[in-house]
Amino acid sequence: MAAPVIEADAVVIGAGPVGLFQVFQLGLHEVQAHVIDALPYAGGQCMELYADKPIYDIPGTPVTTGRGLTQSLLQQIAPFQAQMHFSQLVESVNRLDDGRLCLVTDAGTTFITKALIVAAGVGAFVPRKPAIPALEAFEGRQVHYLHDRALADGSFADSHVVVLGGDESAVVAALEAAQPSGNARGPASVTLIHRRDVFAGEPDTLQLLESARAAGKVRVLAAQVTGCVTASDQLKALQVLTAEGTETSVTADHVLVRLGMSPKMGPIAEWGWTLERKQVPVNTENFQSEIPGIFAVGDINFYPGKRKLILSGFHEATLAAFGAMAFISPEKKVHLQYTTTSPRLHQLLGVGTQEKS
Ligand SMILES: Cc1cc2nc3c(=O)[nH]c(=O)nc-3n(C[C@H](O)[C@H](O)[C@H](O)COP(=O)(O)OP(=O)(O)OC[C@H]3O[C@@H](n4cnc5c(N)ncnc54)[C@H](O)[C@@H]3O)c2cc1C
Repeated sequence: MAAPVIEADAVVIGAGPVGLFQVFQLGLHEVQAHVIDALPYAGGQCMELYADKPIYDIPGTPVTTGRGLTQSLLQQIAPFQAQMHFSQLVESVNRLDDGRLCLVTDAGTTFITKALIVAAGVGAFVPRKPAIPALEAFEGRQVHYLHDRALADGSFADSHVVVLGGDESAVVAALEAAQPSGNARGPASVTLIHRRDVFAGEPDTLQLLESARAAGKVRVLAAQVTGCVTASDQLKALQVLTAEGTETSVTADHVLVRLGMSPKMGPIAEWGWTLERKQVPVNTENFQSEIPGIFAVGDINFYPGKRKLILSGFHEATLAAFGAMAFISPEKKVHLQYTTTSPRLHQLLGVGTQEKS
Protein backbone atom coordinates (compact mmCIF):
# COMPACT_ATOMS: atom_id res chain seq x y z
CA MET A 1 0.00 0.00 0.00
CA ALA A 2 1.33 3.47 -0.90
CA ALA A 3 2.41 5.61 2.07
CA PRO A 4 -0.28 8.18 2.90
CA VAL A 5 0.15 11.80 1.75
CA ILE A 6 -1.88 14.42 3.60
CA GLU A 7 -2.27 17.92 2.18
CA ALA A 8 -2.96 20.61 4.76
CA ASP A 9 -3.16 24.34 5.28
CA ALA A 10 -1.39 24.10 8.61
CA VAL A 11 0.49 21.40 10.46
CA VAL A 12 1.38 21.71 14.14
CA ILE A 13 4.23 19.57 15.47
CA GLY A 14 3.52 18.86 19.13
CA ALA A 15 0.29 18.27 21.03
CA GLY A 16 1.55 19.83 24.26
CA PRO A 17 -0.46 22.68 25.81
CA VAL A 18 0.89 25.22 23.35
CA GLY A 19 0.33 23.03 20.27
CA LEU A 20 -3.25 22.45 21.45
CA PHE A 21 -3.89 26.17 21.92
CA GLN A 22 -2.35 26.74 18.48
CA VAL A 23 -5.16 24.60 17.07
CA PHE A 24 -7.67 26.93 18.75
CA GLN A 25 -6.07 30.07 17.38
CA LEU A 26 -5.83 28.64 13.86
CA GLY A 27 -9.43 27.53 14.18
CA LEU A 28 -10.53 31.11 14.85
CA HIS A 29 -9.02 31.90 11.42
CA GLU A 30 -11.04 29.05 9.91
CA VAL A 31 -7.98 26.84 9.51
CA GLN A 32 -8.32 23.18 10.42
CA ALA A 33 -4.92 22.01 11.65
CA HIS A 34 -3.23 18.64 11.56
CA VAL A 35 -1.31 17.90 14.76
CA ILE A 36 1.51 15.36 14.99
CA ASP A 37 2.99 14.05 18.24
CA ALA A 38 5.43 11.27 19.06
CA LEU A 39 3.37 10.44 22.15
CA PRO A 40 0.23 8.33 21.85
CA TYR A 41 -1.83 11.10 23.56
CA ALA A 42 -2.07 14.86 23.93
CA GLY A 43 -0.60 16.98 26.72
CA GLY A 44 3.19 17.01 26.22
CA GLN A 45 5.07 17.76 29.43
CA CYS A 46 1.79 18.37 31.29
CA MET A 47 0.77 14.73 30.85
CA GLU A 48 4.17 13.13 30.75
CA LEU A 49 5.92 14.91 33.59
CA TYR A 50 3.28 16.27 36.01
CA ALA A 51 -0.16 14.96 35.10
CA ASP A 52 -1.48 15.01 38.67
CA LYS A 53 0.50 17.92 40.10
CA PRO A 54 -1.18 21.31 40.56
CA ILE A 55 -0.55 24.33 38.29
CA TYR A 56 -1.45 27.73 39.70
CA ASP A 57 -0.42 30.20 36.97
CA ILE A 58 -2.85 29.61 34.13
CA PRO A 59 -4.74 32.90 33.77
CA GLY A 60 -8.33 32.66 34.94
CA THR A 61 -7.81 29.17 36.34
CA PRO A 62 -6.76 29.41 40.01
CA VAL A 63 -5.68 25.78 40.10
CA THR A 64 -5.66 22.82 37.76
CA THR A 65 -3.33 19.89 37.05
CA GLY A 66 -1.35 18.83 34.00
CA ARG A 67 -4.12 16.39 33.15
CA GLY A 68 -6.87 18.91 33.92
CA LEU A 69 -5.31 21.57 31.70
CA THR A 70 -4.91 19.08 28.86
CA GLN A 71 -8.53 18.01 29.15
CA SER A 72 -9.72 21.64 29.19
CA LEU A 73 -7.66 22.46 26.12
CA LEU A 74 -8.96 19.40 24.26
CA GLN A 75 -12.50 20.49 25.13
CA GLN A 76 -11.77 24.04 24.00
CA ILE A 77 -10.37 22.98 20.62
CA ALA A 78 -13.03 20.32 19.93
CA PRO A 79 -15.13 22.60 17.66
CA PHE A 80 -12.22 22.92 15.24
CA GLN A 81 -11.91 19.17 14.64
CA ALA A 82 -8.14 19.08 14.30
CA GLN A 83 -6.78 15.87 12.85
CA MET A 84 -4.56 14.26 15.47
CA HIS A 85 -1.70 12.02 14.36
CA PHE A 86 -0.26 10.39 17.47
CA SER A 87 2.69 8.01 17.92
CA GLN A 88 4.50 9.60 14.99
CA LEU A 89 7.82 11.38 15.11
CA VAL A 90 8.40 14.04 12.46
CA GLU A 91 11.77 13.16 11.01
CA SER A 92 12.29 15.57 8.12
CA VAL A 93 11.03 18.90 6.83
CA ASN A 94 11.84 20.07 3.30
CA ARG A 95 10.68 22.81 0.96
CA LEU A 96 8.88 21.75 -2.23
CA ASP A 97 9.23 23.56 -5.57
CA ASP A 98 5.76 25.08 -5.15
CA GLY A 99 6.85 26.69 -1.87
CA ARG A 100 4.95 24.35 0.43
CA LEU A 101 6.64 22.32 3.14
CA CYS A 102 6.91 18.55 3.10
CA LEU A 103 7.13 16.65 6.40
CA VAL A 104 7.76 12.93 6.73
CA THR A 105 7.15 10.97 9.92
CA ASP A 106 8.69 7.73 11.15
CA ALA A 107 5.35 6.03 10.39
CA GLY A 108 5.91 6.86 6.72
CA THR A 109 3.17 9.53 6.56
CA THR A 110 3.91 12.57 4.38
CA PHE A 111 2.31 15.94 5.14
CA ILE A 112 2.38 18.75 2.59
CA THR A 113 1.48 22.04 4.20
CA LYS A 114 1.38 25.76 3.50
CA ALA A 115 2.38 26.68 7.06
CA LEU A 116 4.17 24.75 9.77
CA ILE A 117 3.99 25.62 13.44
CA VAL A 118 6.58 23.84 15.54
CA ALA A 119 5.35 23.47 19.14
CA ALA A 120 7.87 20.77 19.95
CA GLY A 121 8.64 21.77 23.54
CA VAL A 122 11.85 20.27 24.84
CA GLY A 123 11.77 17.62 22.13
CA ALA A 124 9.83 14.54 21.19
CA PHE A 125 8.90 12.25 24.06
CA VAL A 126 10.37 8.90 23.17
CA PRO A 127 10.47 5.74 25.29
CA ARG A 128 13.45 5.06 27.54
CA LYS A 129 15.13 1.87 26.39
CA PRO A 130 16.75 -0.84 28.49
CA ALA A 131 20.54 -0.64 28.33
CA ILE A 132 20.76 -3.89 26.34
CA PRO A 133 21.73 -2.96 22.74
CA ALA A 134 21.05 -6.52 21.51
CA LEU A 135 17.32 -6.01 22.15
CA GLU A 136 17.10 -3.36 19.41
CA ALA A 137 17.13 -6.03 16.69
CA PHE A 138 13.79 -7.30 18.02
CA GLU A 139 11.96 -3.96 18.26
CA GLY A 140 8.50 -4.10 16.71
CA ARG A 141 8.64 -7.90 16.53
CA GLN A 142 9.25 -9.07 20.07
CA VAL A 143 10.24 -5.89 21.91
CA HIS A 144 7.42 -3.36 22.12
CA TYR A 145 7.24 0.23 23.31
CA LEU A 146 4.22 2.26 24.37
CA HIS A 147 3.56 3.57 20.86
CA ASP A 148 3.89 0.17 19.14
CA ARG A 149 1.25 0.15 16.41
CA ALA A 150 1.48 -3.55 15.54
CA LEU A 151 0.02 -5.03 18.72
CA ALA A 152 -3.58 -6.14 18.75
CA ASP A 153 -5.55 -8.02 21.34
CA GLY A 154 -4.57 -11.65 20.98
CA SER A 155 -0.97 -10.86 20.00
CA PHE A 156 0.24 -12.63 23.15
CA ALA A 157 -1.80 -15.82 22.85
CA ASP A 158 0.18 -18.68 24.42
CA SER A 159 3.28 -16.45 24.64
CA HIS A 160 5.59 -15.71 27.52
CA VAL A 161 5.25 -11.97 28.10
CA VAL A 162 7.70 -9.89 30.13
CA VAL A 163 6.90 -6.31 31.15
CA LEU A 164 9.72 -4.00 32.24
CA GLY A 165 8.98 -1.04 34.51
CA GLY A 166 7.61 0.07 37.84
CA ASP A 167 5.09 2.79 37.11
CA GLU A 168 1.40 2.70 36.38
CA SER A 169 1.89 2.12 32.64
CA ALA A 170 3.98 -1.00 33.39
CA VAL A 171 1.39 -2.34 35.82
CA VAL A 172 -1.43 -1.66 33.35
CA ALA A 173 0.52 -3.35 30.54
CA ALA A 174 1.03 -6.45 32.69
CA LEU A 175 -2.65 -6.56 33.68
CA GLU A 176 -3.82 -6.09 30.09
CA ALA A 177 -1.46 -8.78 28.80
CA ALA A 178 -2.71 -11.18 31.47
CA GLN A 179 -6.37 -10.48 30.74
CA PRO A 180 -7.06 -10.34 26.99
CA SER A 181 -10.54 -9.15 26.10
CA GLY A 182 -13.18 -11.07 24.16
CA ASN A 183 -12.31 -14.50 22.87
CA ALA A 184 -8.56 -13.87 22.54
CA ARG A 185 -6.48 -16.68 24.06
CA GLY A 186 -4.41 -15.69 27.05
CA PRO A 187 -0.62 -15.67 27.37
CA ALA A 188 1.42 -18.61 28.67
CA SER A 189 2.85 -16.34 31.38
CA VAL A 190 3.23 -12.68 32.33
CA THR A 191 6.25 -11.55 34.36
CA LEU A 192 6.56 -7.97 35.59
CA ILE A 193 10.19 -7.05 36.22
CA HIS A 194 11.16 -3.99 38.25
CA ARG A 195 14.27 -3.41 40.33
CA ARG A 196 12.16 -3.33 43.51
CA ASP A 197 8.90 -5.01 44.42
CA VAL A 198 7.29 -1.58 44.76
CA PHE A 199 5.06 -0.09 42.08
CA ALA A 200 3.63 3.38 41.47
CA GLY A 201 0.05 3.86 40.36
CA GLU A 202 -3.52 4.54 41.29
CA PRO A 203 -4.67 2.50 44.32
CA ASP A 204 -7.25 0.66 42.16
CA THR A 205 -4.57 -0.38 39.66
CA LEU A 206 -2.24 -1.58 42.40
CA GLN A 207 -5.09 -3.54 43.97
CA LEU A 208 -5.73 -5.23 40.61
CA LEU A 209 -2.05 -6.14 40.46
CA GLU A 210 -2.24 -7.71 43.92
CA SER A 211 -5.26 -9.76 42.84
CA ALA A 212 -3.54 -10.85 39.60
CA ARG A 213 -0.46 -11.89 41.58
CA ALA A 214 -2.55 -13.83 44.08
CA ALA A 215 -4.36 -15.59 41.21
CA GLY A 216 -1.03 -16.48 39.58
CA LYS A 217 -1.79 -14.43 36.48
CA VAL A 218 1.11 -12.01 36.92
CA ARG A 219 4.44 -12.95 38.44
CA VAL A 220 6.50 -10.09 39.88
CA LEU A 221 10.27 -10.31 39.84
CA ALA A 222 12.47 -7.75 41.61
CA ALA A 223 15.47 -7.77 39.29
CA GLN A 224 17.53 -5.88 36.74
CA VAL A 225 17.87 -7.01 33.15
CA THR A 226 21.50 -7.71 32.30
CA GLY A 227 21.31 -9.33 28.86
CA CYS A 228 19.30 -11.51 26.55
CA VAL A 229 19.35 -15.01 25.09
CA THR A 230 18.70 -15.30 21.35
CA ALA A 231 18.59 -18.15 18.84
CA SER A 232 17.80 -18.27 15.11
CA ASP A 233 17.09 -14.51 15.00
CA GLN A 234 14.56 -14.89 17.81
CA LEU A 235 14.57 -13.47 21.30
CA LYS A 236 14.24 -16.39 23.70
CA ALA A 237 14.82 -15.04 27.20
CA LEU A 238 16.05 -12.13 29.29
CA GLN A 239 18.97 -12.58 31.64
CA VAL A 240 18.41 -10.89 34.97
CA LEU A 241 20.14 -10.22 38.25
CA THR A 242 17.62 -10.53 41.05
CA ALA A 243 17.44 -8.17 44.04
CA GLU A 244 18.92 -11.04 46.08
CA GLY A 245 21.95 -11.15 43.75
CA THR A 246 21.06 -14.33 41.83
CA GLU A 247 21.63 -14.53 38.08
CA THR A 248 18.80 -16.23 36.23
CA SER A 249 16.86 -16.02 32.99
CA VAL A 250 13.20 -15.40 32.20
CA THR A 251 11.63 -16.89 29.08
CA ALA A 252 10.43 -14.06 26.84
CA ASP A 253 8.50 -14.24 23.57
CA HIS A 254 7.43 -10.61 23.93
CA VAL A 255 8.93 -7.82 26.02
CA LEU A 256 6.80 -4.76 26.79
CA VAL A 257 9.12 -1.90 27.73
CA ARG A 258 7.45 0.62 30.08
CA LEU A 259 10.43 2.46 31.50
CA GLY A 260 8.93 5.92 31.00
CA MET A 261 9.46 8.54 28.33
CA SER A 262 12.14 11.21 27.98
CA PRO A 263 12.29 14.19 25.60
CA LYS A 264 14.82 14.13 22.75
CA MET A 265 15.49 17.02 20.41
CA GLY A 266 16.20 14.45 17.73
CA PRO A 267 15.80 15.49 14.11
CA ILE A 268 14.58 19.06 14.80
CA ALA A 269 18.19 20.21 15.01
CA GLU A 270 18.69 19.26 11.35
CA TRP A 271 15.84 21.17 9.76
CA GLY A 272 17.98 23.97 8.33
CA TRP A 273 18.05 26.52 11.10
CA THR A 274 20.68 27.71 13.50
CA LEU A 275 19.56 26.77 16.97
CA GLU A 276 20.32 28.96 19.96
CA ARG A 277 20.59 27.15 23.31
CA LYS A 278 18.92 24.17 21.55
CA GLN A 279 15.93 26.39 20.74
CA VAL A 280 14.62 27.85 17.48
CA PRO A 281 15.22 31.62 17.21
CA VAL A 282 12.04 33.52 16.25
CA ASN A 283 10.91 37.11 15.87
CA THR A 284 8.45 38.39 18.44
CA GLU A 285 6.09 39.92 15.90
CA ASN A 286 4.62 36.62 14.78
CA PHE A 287 7.07 33.96 16.07
CA GLN A 288 8.26 33.02 12.61
CA SER A 289 11.65 31.33 12.46
CA GLU A 290 14.36 32.26 9.98
CA ILE A 291 12.65 29.87 7.52
CA PRO A 292 9.61 31.48 5.86
CA GLY A 293 6.39 29.69 6.70
CA ILE A 294 7.83 27.88 9.72
CA PHE A 295 6.79 29.28 13.08
CA ALA A 296 7.97 28.10 16.49
CA VAL A 297 5.95 28.53 19.68
CA GLY A 298 6.20 27.37 23.28
CA ASP A 299 9.30 25.91 24.92
CA ILE A 300 11.02 25.19 21.59
CA ASN A 301 11.53 28.84 20.63
CA PHE A 302 14.04 31.46 21.66
CA TYR A 303 13.94 35.25 21.71
CA PRO A 304 15.33 37.85 24.10
CA GLY A 305 13.41 37.57 27.37
CA LYS A 306 11.98 34.13 26.58
CA ARG A 307 10.47 32.36 29.59
CA LYS A 308 9.40 28.72 29.28
CA LEU A 309 5.89 29.19 30.63
CA ILE A 310 2.60 27.91 29.28
CA LEU A 311 1.02 31.35 29.25
CA SER A 312 3.91 32.73 27.14
CA GLY A 313 3.30 29.91 24.67
CA PHE A 314 -0.40 30.81 24.49
CA HIS A 315 0.46 34.39 23.52
CA GLU A 316 2.98 33.16 20.96
CA ALA A 317 0.44 30.79 19.42
CA THR A 318 -2.07 33.64 19.07
CA LEU A 319 0.33 35.83 17.09
CA ALA A 320 1.74 32.87 15.12
CA ALA A 321 -1.78 32.10 13.85
CA PHE A 322 -2.03 35.63 12.43
CA GLY A 323 1.45 35.23 10.88
CA ALA A 324 0.62 31.83 9.38
CA MET A 325 -2.37 33.28 7.53
CA ALA A 326 0.01 35.10 5.17
CA PHE A 327 1.05 31.65 3.90
CA ILE A 328 -2.31 29.89 4.16
CA SER A 329 -4.56 32.55 2.56
CA PRO A 330 -2.31 35.38 1.37
CA GLU A 331 -5.24 37.07 -0.38
CA LYS A 332 -7.38 37.21 2.76
CA LYS A 333 -7.45 40.30 4.96
CA VAL A 334 -7.13 39.09 8.54
CA HIS A 335 -8.92 41.15 11.16
CA LEU A 336 -8.96 40.78 14.90
CA GLN A 337 -12.36 39.60 16.07
CA TYR A 338 -13.55 39.11 19.63
CA THR A 339 -14.97 35.75 20.62
CA THR A 340 -17.41 37.69 22.82
CA THR A 341 -19.09 39.57 20.01
CA SER A 342 -18.28 38.05 16.61
CA PRO A 343 -21.19 36.06 15.11
CA ARG A 344 -18.71 34.42 12.72
CA LEU A 345 -16.56 33.17 15.60
CA HIS A 346 -19.68 31.99 17.41
CA GLN A 347 -20.58 30.01 14.33
CA LEU A 348 -17.08 28.47 14.21
CA LEU A 349 -17.23 27.68 17.91
CA GLY A 350 -20.69 26.20 17.55
CA VAL A 351 -22.21 28.53 20.13
CA GLY A 352 -25.29 30.74 19.79
CA THR A 353 -24.88 34.50 19.25
CA GLN A 354 -26.60 36.45 22.01
CA GLU A 355 -29.16 38.95 20.75
CA LYS A 356 -28.51 42.54 21.83
CA SER A 357 -30.99 43.51 24.54
C1 LIG B 1 7.68 19.48 36.52
C2 LIG B 1 7.27 20.65 35.66
C3 LIG B 1 6.36 21.56 36.15
C4 LIG B 1 5.97 22.67 35.41
N1 LIG B 1 5.09 23.57 35.93
C5 LIG B 1 4.70 24.64 35.20
C6 LIG B 1 3.80 25.61 35.75
O1 LIG B 1 3.38 25.52 36.90
N2 LIG B 1 3.43 26.65 34.94
C7 LIG B 1 3.90 26.82 33.65
O2 LIG B 1 3.52 27.76 32.98
N3 LIG B 1 4.77 25.91 33.14
C8 LIG B 1 5.18 24.85 33.87
N4 LIG B 1 6.08 23.95 33.35
C9 LIG B 1 6.57 24.18 31.97
C10 LIG B 1 5.52 23.75 30.96
O3 LIG B 1 5.17 22.40 31.15
C11 LIG B 1 6.04 23.98 29.54
O4 LIG B 1 6.31 25.35 29.39
C12 LIG B 1 5.00 23.53 28.53
O5 LIG B 1 4.74 22.15 28.63
C13 LIG B 1 5.48 23.85 27.12
O6 LIG B 1 4.48 23.42 26.26
P1 LIG B 1 4.81 23.07 24.74
O7 LIG B 1 3.49 22.74 24.14
O8 LIG B 1 5.64 24.15 24.16
O9 LIG B 1 5.77 21.79 24.80
P2 LIG B 1 5.63 20.33 25.43
O10 LIG B 1 4.68 20.31 26.55
O11 LIG B 1 7.03 19.88 25.70
O12 LIG B 1 5.03 19.47 24.24
C14 LIG B 1 5.78 19.27 23.08
C15 LIG B 1 5.26 18.04 22.36
O13 LIG B 1 5.91 17.97 21.07
C16 LIG B 1 6.18 16.62 20.78
N5 LIG B 1 7.28 16.58 19.79
C17 LIG B 1 8.47 17.20 19.86
N6 LIG B 1 9.22 16.97 18.76
C18 LIG B 1 8.46 16.17 17.96
C19 LIG B 1 8.66 15.57 16.68
N7 LIG B 1 9.80 15.73 15.99
N8 LIG B 1 7.68 14.78 16.18
C20 LIG B 1 6.52 14.58 16.88
N9 LIG B 1 6.28 15.13 18.09
C21 LIG B 1 7.23 15.91 18.62
C22 LIG B 1 6.57 16.00 22.11
O14 LIG B 1 6.40 14.60 22.11
C23 LIG B 1 5.62 16.74 23.07
O15 LIG B 1 4.44 16.00 23.33
C24 LIG B 1 6.49 22.86 34.09
C25 LIG B 1 7.39 21.92 33.57
C26 LIG B 1 7.78 20.83 34.34
C27 LIG B 1 8.76 19.84 33.78
